[in-house]
Order: sequence, then C-alpha cells, then structure tokens
Amino acid sequence: MTTLYKNYVDGAFVPSDGATIDVTNPANGALLARIPDSSADTIASAVAAARRAQPAWEKLAPIQRANHLRQIAAKVRERRTELAGIIVREQGKVPGLAQVEVDFTADYIDYMAEWARRLEGEVLSSDRANETIFLLRKPVGVVAGILPWNFPFFLIARKLAPALVTGNTIVIKPSEETPINAFEFAQLVSETDLPAGVFNLVGGRGATAGDALVSNPDVDLITFTGSVATGSRIMQAAGRHLTRVNLELGGKAPAIVLADADLDLAAKAIYDSRVINTGQVCNCAERVYVERGVHDALVQKLAAHMQATRYGDPSVDADLQMGPLINQAGLDKVAAMVEQAKRDGATIVTGGQRAQLAQGFHYEPTLIVDARADMDIMRKEIFGPVLPVQVVDSLDEAIALSNDSEFGLTSSIFTSNINSAMRAVRELRFGETYINREHFEAMQGFHAGRRKSGIGGADGKHGLYEFTETHVVYLQT
Ligand code: NAD
Repeated sequence: MTTLYKNYVDGAFVPSDGATIDVTNPANGALLARIPDSSADTIASAVAAARRAQPAWEKLAPIQRANHLRQIAAKVRERRTELAGIIVREQGKVPGLAQVEVDFTADYIDYMAEWARRLEGEVLSSDRANETIFLLRKPVGVVAGILPWNFPFFLIARKLAPALVTGNTIVIKPSEETPINAFEFAQLVSETDLPAGVFNLVGGRGATAGDALVSNPDVDLITFTGSVATGSRIMQAAGRHLTRVNLELGGKAPAIVLADADLDLAAKAIYDSRVINTGQVCNCAERVYVERGVHDALVQKLAAHMQATRYGDPSVDADLQMGPLINQAGLDKVAAMVEQAKRDGATIVTGGQRAQLAQGFHYEPTLIVDARADMDIMRKEIFGPVLPVQVVDSLDEAIALSNDSEFGLTSSIFTSNINSAMRAVRELRFGETYINREHFEAMQGFHAGRRKSGIGGADGKHGLYEFTETHVVYLQT
C-alpha cells in the first residue's frame, strides 16, 4: 500500500481535498508515496490557522518558544537514521550526506533556540531632554516558507527555527519533488506539545498551491529558496499586497586558484564542492579561474578526483560519493549545457556523457577546459557534476571575470599569499568568500546573495532578525 500523506493544519492531519502528487525515487523510478496537491481553499485555511495562533505564540516568553524548538530537535535526533533514509530515497542524496543533513538540521534548530536569551533591542539618545528612544524587535507575523528539493530537510529548519523563536507562526510548502521528509517532520512535530497552528505544512505544486500561498494577503513575509525564475514570479505575486520577501536563489560560484596555491588542497576542495549532492548546491564551485602556470597541474589533479568518483543508486549502495540528478529535466539540462560547451569550443577532459546505468537520472562527473567567459557553461547555473575551467593571467583578471556575473552568492580563492586573499575579499562582489577551503556555510554566518542570487539572507544573528520588524518607541518622562 502506498502511503498517502495528509496536510498538517491547525495541529491536525487533514486529508487531501482532491488531487494528489506521486513521489518517486530519482535513482530508480520507484513510487515512494503520495502527497496532497492542495487546493487554494486548503492553503487559505493553513494561513488562517497560522494567523489565529500567532498572537498567543508571540506572548510566550522567548525561552518558552525555544523549549518547544528544542523538543522538535530532540525528536529529529530520535529518528535521525530513518529520516536520512527517506532523504536518500526521495532526493537521491548519498547516505553519509543525508545523515549530515539531518544532524545539522537538529543542531540548527538548537542553535536558533539559543537566540531566545539573546534577542536584543537598542536604546538611543534623543535630541529632546527627558526623552529615551527604544528600538524593539517584534515578529513579522505569519511567515510562508517555500522550499526547494536539494536540501529539503535542512531548509525546513532554516525557515521554521528563526521564524518561531522570534514569535512568528509559519506555513511551509515543501518541493513536490521531495516532500516526504517534510511530512515526516510534521509527524514528529505533532508528537510535541507545540500549540496548534504555529507550524503548518501543506503539499502541492508550485504554480497552484505555491502561488496561492505567496498570493495570500494575510501572509506577512515570504521566505523562499529556489530558482531565480520562481523567485522573480514570487516577488511579482508579493508585489500585489506588498508582502515582504526573503529570497535565496541560484548561484554560479567562482573558485580562483593562484599560482602560489596549495594545489592538492585546492583540487580536493573544489572537487568536493562540485560533486557534493551531485553538483546540485546553490553555493558550490561552478567555474574555476586558474593562473596559467598551474593550469595543467590543477587540471590533472581535478581529473584524478573526478575519475575516481563512485556514483550510482544510493538507495542500494551506501558507499557512493554521488547519486542521480533530481529528475529528467535536470539531467537533460546538464547534458544540453555540456553539448553546448563542446560546440562553443570547450574541451572535455573527463566525463561529458549521461552515465551508462540501467535506470535513474545519472550524469558522469565531468571536467571541462578551454572555457571562455562568453560561454553559457561559465555564465549559467549548471546544477550538476560538471566543472568548467578557464585559464587567467592574473588575480585582477580572475576577480573581474568572477564579478562579471548575474549571480553573487559565494566565491572562493586558493592562495598562500594573505595579501592576494585580502585583495580578493575587498574586490569580490559576493555574499560569501571561502579562503583555502570548500564552499560550505556555517550556521553562525550570513548566507546571502547579491544580484540575482537573492534578497536578504539566512543564518546567524542577521538571518534571525530578517524575521523581525523594528518598532521605535519615544518615551517622554
Ligand atoms: P524551484 O524554483 O523550481 O522550486 C522551488 C519551490 O518553489 C518549490 O517548492 C516549488 O513548488 C515552488 N514554486 C514553483 N513555482 C512557484 C510559484 N509560482 N509560486 C510559489 N511557489 C512556486 O527550485 P528548485 O528546482 O526546487 O531548486 C533549485 C534552485 O534552488 C537552484 O537554482 C538553486 O541554486 C536554488 N537554491 C538556492 C539556495 C540558496 O540558499 N541560495 C539553496 C538551495 C537551492
């Protein structure tokens, strides 16, 4: 019997009021479960439940809200192995990384709960005698969280934990590609004593359920992670009611390798950043700029890593570095970009084809050289295990090429010269720069993109305060 999940609205599991969506394993096509394809009425009822629950939730002491979050984190840890297995099957993530995702999620919820005792306002001096000015931070109200499929479980926490600790309630719509882990999350939330309506989960497609959620006038803040195209549509929908938006969108992260870099370290870090999650990560290395003198040596090392990659179906083989791409469209897009790069004059060093496996959306780890700045492969998001390399003659050239992009999420530089590293930090126009390490953010940081990579950011103190509004009080005594 295939499981049919129910929406979680106002503290209760509510059956689908109509259509459903099949969820399948991208490595082998197996049907895993069905979820509701929620109607606009269902979405409206979830937003209404969040609205009703918000005032009482805001009135709790922050530490009480944090204790609810800690209960949820503890439940995640109790079911950590099972949850990782679900992510492996529905997203195609390799088991080790799926387990990291689940454990990181629990830690992230606890980290955001810690902020309960650190929420701060400010006291300002006034131009008037006997007056004090206060800045208070208040919750925004009802938050809508729209999730992608590439880190489906962690992104629930990235939306929910800062929203709840600051006194907001939330309605989350997971990606229709990877919703099962979110419905299981709702199950474990239901086993805690979180008040009804504080967290609501609704399944559905983006163009219908997602659109109904972001168009709802009773939503105060939309926090979205996904593609630039959808982010743009959401911003247009938000414009109707002037709903606030927080958008975490695509990336095209440059990795700069200077002649004085530790090449073993650089090759390993860039390779890891490229094949992790089968290249489907917004912040991971998507293009390399390497100084001419070390080009061949770096390419040799990158090729060795690529050729040694173990890939396949992670639901039957745990000892893999890479699983499949998420779906046929993802595979076709990666294959088309590589073909275009070949036509544009780039050279394939290794890979360059759909993998010859019996089933699933697999693509070979692929290294490309002779890339040029005008090629799509250096300008558009690939979102697959394909790494193009362009030769440069100076740090200046590498920085200029890096900045010449519609994306501005993450960047990295590999060098043993602190002056070069600091110059890059000053001149790179990106939300994040990693120096001599792989691309991967920390929960204390601030994950935020420039240009088309997004608006606002997540994580740390600055991410937390994105879920608040400032209230200024003038006290004359
Ligand atoms: P997507 O934009 O296709 O879908 C994301 C979500 O939006 C899904 O839940 C979908 O149902 C929903 N959606 C689609 N149309 C909608 C609409 N009109 N209104 C409301 N919701 C709608 O993205 P994806 O393919 O799931 O994710 C991959 C993309 O996400 C990549 O571009 C990647 O770079 C980006 N991403 C960014 C970050 C970051 O932090 N910047 C993190 C992860 C992924």
